[in-house]
Order: sequence, then structure tokens, then C-alpha cells
Amino acid sequence: MTEPALTVDLGERSYPLYIDSQIISSESLYRKHISGRNVLIVTDENTAPHYLPALQETLSGFNCNRLVLPPGESQKTLDTVASIYDQLMRDRFDRNSTLIALGGGVVGDICGFAAATYQRGVRFVQVPTTLLAQVDSSVGGKTGVNHPLGKNMIGAFHQPACVIADMDTLTTLPARELKAGLAEVIKYGLIDDAEFFQWVDKNLSGLLSLEATSLRQAVAHCCENKARIVASDEREKGKRALLNLGHTFGHAIENACGYGVWLHGEAIAAGMCLAAQFSIALGQLPEPDLAIIKSVFQRADLPVQPPAEMTAQDCLNLMSRDKKVKDNILTLVLMKGIGRAFLSTDYDRSILEHTLDSAFSGAAGCLSENE
Ligand code: ADP
Ligand code: ZN
Repeated sequence: MTEPALTVDLGERSYPLYIDSQIISSESLYRKHISGRNVLIVTDENTAPHYLPALQETLSGFNCNRLVLPPGESQKTLDTVASIYDQLMRDRFDRNSTLIALGGGVVGDICGFAAATYQRGVRFVQVPTTLLAQVDSSVGGKTGVNHPLGKNMIGAFHQPACVIADMDTLTTLPARELKAGLAEVIKYGLIDDAEFFQWVDKNLSGLLSLEATSLRQAVAHCCENKARIVASDEREKGKRALLNLGHTFGHAIENACGYGVWLHGEAIAAGMCLAAQFSIALGQLPEPDLAIIKSVFQRADLPVQPPAEMTAQDCLNLMSRDKKVKDNILTLVLMKGIGRAFLSTDYDRSILEHTLDSAFSGAAGCLSENE
């Protein structure tokens, strides 16, 4: 019987994280966390061929249906959520049903939001199959979809009943997606774990070549960090916002280029470099740290510059719509050092504009038509 690697400690909403190889088809795990007989597996067209048949077989003792969505960030819309409600209604699924999100962060966010809202909330199980989802998005209960004008603008907090992260699923993941997931792994080191940053730096080639022990260690370590932060601040009143390092800049990049053109991990890698550059301009981060940070991203084949077709003004416009804007003030996650991120609201706006002007210099702008 597989034991949980960790528990996210949230009182009555606490739940286990199973992190291991060969657990995706472990019937006893699902049985423990499914309520009722009705199960809907939500997945996407790229994930389904690899893992759906076996999972359906595992769950053949339940009334198990499936919904296969087109893949990609551009599917993270209310229309897609409506298609899940349609299926649940057609299949006469009641409140005692369980949704299973089989796939990456996109499937997890959409399926989680459908679970949060269908009949005011049903159970759901996260079965993350991308590195990004295993280290970040499947843990913590943030669910939701994009609005054309802003990423993750519609959503709900809804914790899963458990997370089943099987590292073996990463063997079928396209290399570009694996690298994008590494951006979130590196993020944990930059936030508050310099030792882990160094570990990733040292073990990067093992991670890129899917070396099983390194991968398991990285996933477990990131989940541990995330579980601790989420347990201390479930609804992002304070510390949890540190997990958004690079994300305000990154979300602006994703939106400006069109969802899915830059992968989330790629956008936040460039976003973390922008956060570092701004921190240096404010006199907070020692300049040599930027080269160290860039070097890890570059060796993971991740971008360290924003897209050439975007301007500083594009970025500022999109950042002003970020969820971290409260009463017109945008909270940014900055760095005093590697492993020393902090939240700031009282930075000098003209220095921000100046930093972005030089980082985006030469761009022609890609939002001029739709802004
Ligand atoms: P993320 O997890 O980064 O948010 P997605 O959910 O969009 O991203 O997943 C990234 C892409 O990889 C999608 O096209 C998805 O269908 C595909 N995918 C997810 N998991 C696997 C896997 N284990 N093997 C192959 N392709 C996968
Ligand atoms: Zn992220």
C-alpha cells in the first residue's frame, strides 16, 4: 500500500500527496479518495492516449465516464468548463460524484474549477502528468480559467481530495514542457531555499534527462515547500503571494503573445529575470546574482529575455490588471538575494518603468491592435 509522501495540513481540508513511480494505476489509492460511484475523468487529447485506457481500467469498478478536451492554455475558458457541466448533467451526476483531473496544469485548473462549482462543489482528485503540475499547480487548491483580458481571472479555491503524482508519466512529456516545468522548480529555490537552488543547479542535467531519483527528489521537495506555504496561508493573504515570483511579468508575457504561444514556465523564467533586474535597479539584489540566475535558466534552455515583439508599455498595461493589484497598488515579488524573495508595494514606479524600458527596448509592440 502506497503511503503519502506528504500531507497538506489544512484542518478538515487536509489531503495527502502521493509522489512515486508506478502509482497512477493503483486502484487502492483512488478507492480511498473517491466518494460515491460516479467518476468523471477529465483529460486532454495529448495525455489521453498514454494514460486514459489504464486509468479507466483501474476504475472499472465505478460508474466511470470520461471527457477528453482539446489541449493547451487557450482551452482554459468558461466555455470549456461549461462542457464539463454539460457532461455531468447529461450523465446525471449528483453531489456525491468525483472528478479526476488527468493531465497538466491546464486540465487540473479547469477540472478543479468545474469541481468547485458543480452543485456548489464536488470532490476531485489531481493526477498531474506534467512536471509543472506535479511541482506546483496540482497542490494548493487554486482552480480557474483565463479571461481574454487576463490570466486566471475567474476561479475558486477548492482543495483536491488527494494528489497522485506519478513521475513515470514525465517520460512521455515533450522536452519543451519538461523544461518549462523546471522554471517552477527553480522558482522555489529563488523564493526561500538557496540550498535547493544550488541542488537544482548541480542536478540540472539529471533532471533534464529524467533521472528518476533526481526527479522524485525535486518533485517531493517542491511539494514540501508548497505544502508548507499553503498551510500557513491558504487564501493568499500574505506569504503565499511569494509563490508568484516572476508571475506578474510572466502573465503579462503570456497574455501579450496569446495564450499558449509562450508556455507558462517560459514566461515566468523571463519574468523572474525581470524581477531580478528590477530588484537590482532598486538596490535590493546584488548585481552578480542576476548572472547566476540567468545561467541556470539558460542551461535549462529557458528564456531570460522577454519576447522581442512586446513593449514596456504593453507589459505595464497588462500588469495593471493583475490580481495582485489592490486599490490601484500592484504588489510585486522582488529579491534581496537567491532564496530571499519579499513582497513590495512601495517601490519607485519610475524605476520600474525605466527597468522595463531597457529590458523591452527595441520592441515594436504586439498589443497595438487589441489594446
Ligand atoms: P502545464 O502543466 O504546463 O500547465 P498543460 O496542461 O497545457 O501544461 O500540458 C502541457 C502539454 O503537455 C499539453 O499539450 C498536454 O496535453 C501535454 N501533456 C500533459 N501531460 C503529458 C504527458 N505525461 N505526456 C505527454 N503529453 C502530456
Ligand atoms: Zn506558475
